[in-house]
Amino acid sequence: MERTKCLIIGSGPAGYTAAIYAARANLSPVLYEGIQPGGQLTTTNEIENFPGYPDGINGTAMMEDFRRQAIRFGTDIRSGVVTACDLSQAPYKITIDEEKTIETATLIICTGASAKYLGLPDETKYKGLGVSACAVCDGFFYRKKVVAVVGGGDSACEEAIYLAGLAEKVYLIVRKDYLRASQIMQERTLHHPKIEVLFNTNTLGLFGEGGVEGAHLIQFKGEAREEKLDIAIDGFFLAIGHTPNTSVFQPYLAVDEQGYIKTIPGTATTPIPGVFAAGDVADPHYRQAITAAGSGCKAALEADRYLQNCYSDC
Ligand code: NDP
Repeated sequence: MERTKCLIIGSGPAGYTAAIYAARANLSPVLYEGIQPGGQLTTTNEIENFPGYPDGINGTAMMEDFRRQAIRFGTDIRSGVVTACDLSQAPYKITIDEEKTIETATLIICTGASAKYLGLPDETKYKGLGVSACAVCDGFFYRKKVVAVVGGGDSACEEAIYLAGLAEKVYLIVRKDYLRASQIMQERTLHHPKIEVLFNTNTLGLFGEGGVEGAHLIQFKGEAREEKLDIAIDGFFLAIGHTPNTSVFQPYLAVDEQGYIKTIPGTATTPIPGVFAAGDVADPHYRQAITAAGSGCKAALEADRYLQNCYSDC
């Protein structure tokens, strides 16, 4: 069975930063890219708040920079997804794609988070037929069409603005009477001539023959002024947050009520010696590329210290 000193799972900013630090510390890291190589940033458009890119940078291009830097110091990057693990004792056993098992002295979990859906049966019915959780991936199909984006956070505003660059009109469906997004994103959204924000609005369902043709909405739900309305749309985009990808690790690691891995505050350390978690998978609060990268750095430094103290008996 293959044995590694340092196995990193995930290829977002946390995974690649952990790889850069681990490789430079001679831990010969092996990194599995996971379901979405490059992570969530490859589905965002322009990144304007990562220091070092004063003119902004495309998410995919930035992750390619991270990847090249990890490779430069010797990271062994492989495609594959963790399908099982045994963290009951060191060395830890990690199964990739249900077929290959690797033993590792340290494990850095950077599996990130995946987009949430509302849970409407119509989302499943129309998946790939007008329903999407990634404007950058699918926006191209909606040039000069009408789309709706659900959510009131930074992601929703970002997606709405991106789609407004392609589509004829964008509805932003917000369940509360305010946007939760940062001030700058709120202003850009509210002042965009192609975006109409529908506050106090929830989605009841979708309709259309063979693809999305519209959405059934309800406004001021439960109030005296409650009102139902239909809007004609060609695409329905979800931007209502994310669920951390932790299910495979949950039998062994403590998670919070949303499923985020609990680490010792301020560190990437989990209660299992030699097992670390970094990036969105362990961060319900900040979820920024820069904070993910920072925690990936911490995880690799902690893994190196752990190995220096115990490698002979771990
Ligand atoms: P958030 O959790 O910030 O926002 C989720 C939004 O979806 C909220 O408006 C929420 O409504 C709404 N929502 C959640 N569930 C439902 C539901 N069932 N029905 C209708 N609406 C729902 O998630 P984001 O993905 O937007 O952002 C996550 C983090 O990433 C944030 O910290 C954000 O700042 C950051 N981010 C930063 C970016 C940047 O800096 N450029 C870009 C994108 C994200 P409610 O407010 O009512 O709970």
